[in-house]
Amino acid sequence: MTDDLLEDAIVRFEEALPHAQLSEDAHERLRSPVSSLKVSVPVRMDDGRLRIFPGYRVRYDDTRGPAKGGIRFHPGVTAAEVTTLAFWMTFKTELMDLPFGGGKGGVAVDPKQLSASELERLSRGYLAAIADVIGPDVDIPAPDVATNELVMGWMAHEYAKINRGHHPSVVTGKPLALGGIPGRSSATSDGAFHVIRTVQSRVLPDIDHPSVAIQGFGNAGSQLATRLAEAGWRVVGVSDSSAAIHDAGGLDVAALREHKKATGSLADPPVGEEIAAEDLLCLEVDVLIPAALEGAIDGSNAERVRARTIFEVANGPLTADADRILDDAGVQIVPDILVNAGGVTVSWFEWIANRTGDRWDEATVRERLERRMVTETDAVVALADARDLPLRTAAYVHAIERLSRSMDATGTASLFGDLDG
Ligand code: NAD
Repeated sequence: MTDDLLEDAIVRFEEALPHAQLSEDAHERLRSPVSSLKVSVPVRMDDGRLRIFPGYRVRYDDTRGPAKGGIRFHPGVTAAEVTTLAFWMTFKTELMDLPFGGGKGGVAVDPKQLSASELERLSRGYLAAIADVIGPDVDIPAPDVATNELVMGWMAHEYAKINRGHHPSVVTGKPLALGGIPGRSSATSDGAFHVIRTVQSRVLPDIDHPSVAIQGFGNAGSQLATRLAEAGWRVVGVSDSSAAIHDAGGLDVAALREHKKATGSLADPPVGEEIAAEDLLCLEVDVLIPAALEGAIDGSNAERVRARTIFEVANGPLTADADRILDDAGVQIVPDILVNAGGVTVSWFEWIANRTGDRWDEATVRERLERRMVTETDAVVALADARDLPLRTAAYVHAIERLSRSMDATGTASLFGDLDG
C-alpha cells in the first residue's frame, strides 16, 4: 500500500485546492520533493557479520526554513513512505506557523531484533550517511516511530564528531544532558490533548466523561491515554503491535504502562481482556484515536468504525477512501497535521534554545505549546465555519495559503509580476 501513499496524500491536498489561494507555480512545486536521498547503512552485528540496511532522507519543501521531520526505524520503511511523511510535515509546519519546511527520514529495520550496541551503530551509521544533506539551517531530524531521545543523542554526537564542532540544533528530541528541552518527550501527546480540549465542546457536546479507544501504545498513544484518563475520560481500549486490550468500564492506564515498561508489550495484560486487534478500531466509543502507523483505517474496515469522532495522532492513519466513508457516516475527523503538531512545535523551541544558548524551563515550554496549539486550532475551526469545510480541508487550506504566500514571494511568478507592472 505504501506505493499509493503519496498519491493518496496528494488527493487530500488537491481536494483542498478549490478552497485555497495557491498559485500554479506553487502547486507544481508541491507535487515533488526538493531532494531525496537513499543510502545503504552498513552495521557490524554483534556476531561479527556485516549487514546493510536501506535508509532514506527526504526534504520535501524548505521555502520557509530548514526542513524538519522525524526519523523512523521500522521494517516497513520505504522511499514512498518517507516521501509522504515529509509531504505531511510540510503542511504541519505551515499550519503551526513554524519557520520550517517538511522533511522525514527512516531506515528499513526491525529495531526489536537489534541489541543496544547494534542500535547505536545503526543510528550513528545512518547519521553519517545523511550528514551531507542535513544541518541546523538545512534539514533537522527528530524522533518518530521507534526512535527516542537516546537515538537522537547518538545522532547529535555523531554529527558533532563528523563536523568537529558543537551543532546541537542539528537534531531535536535530544536528552536534556545533550541540549534537549524539558517537555519534548510528552509534546506530541500534550499538543493532541490541547487540540482535543479546544474542540471538545464542538465535536462532543453534552458528554462529560467521553469513552476513548487508542490504537498504538508508544510515546504518543500511551502518554495521551494517561492525560485523558486524568481528565476523567474512560479509556476503554488500547493496543500495540502485540495485543489489544478492552474493558468497557475503563482500563487502568497506569497499570498497563507499568506492564508495557516491564515486559516490552501489552500482551498478557494485568487488567482488561484481550480482543482482536481489528476489533479495537470498531469499538462503540465516543472517540477513536489511531496513534500507530499510517493506513490503519482504509476502505476495507472504515464501515465498521463505530466512533463519533476520530483524532488522528498517527500520521496518515486514514486513507482517502476511509475519509469518504466516515464523512458520509457523519464521523467527525480532526486531522493529523493539527492533532500531532505538538512534537514539532516543541522541537522548534529546542532548536531556538540551542541556537541562542538559552535554557527554557518546563513551565515556559508547556505554556507556549498550549498557546500555539489553541491559537492554530481556533484558526482552523474558524476557517471551517466561515467556508463550510470539514476540519481536514480547513487545516490544509490554512497551511496552503500560508505556504503559497511565501512560495510566490520567492518565486519567478512574483518577479514577472513586478516586471509587468
Ligand atoms: P512509538 O514507536 O513510540 O509507538 C508506536 C506504537 O504503535 C507502539 O506501541 C507499537 O507497538 C504500536 N503499533 C505498531 N503497529 C501497530 C498495529 N498494527 N496495531 C496497533 N499498534 C501498533 O511511536 P510514536 O512516536 O508514538 O508515533 C506514533 C505515531 O505518531 C506515528 O504515526 C508517528 O509518525 C506519529 N507522530 C509521532 C510524533 C512524536 O513526536 N513521537 C510526532 C508526530 C507524529
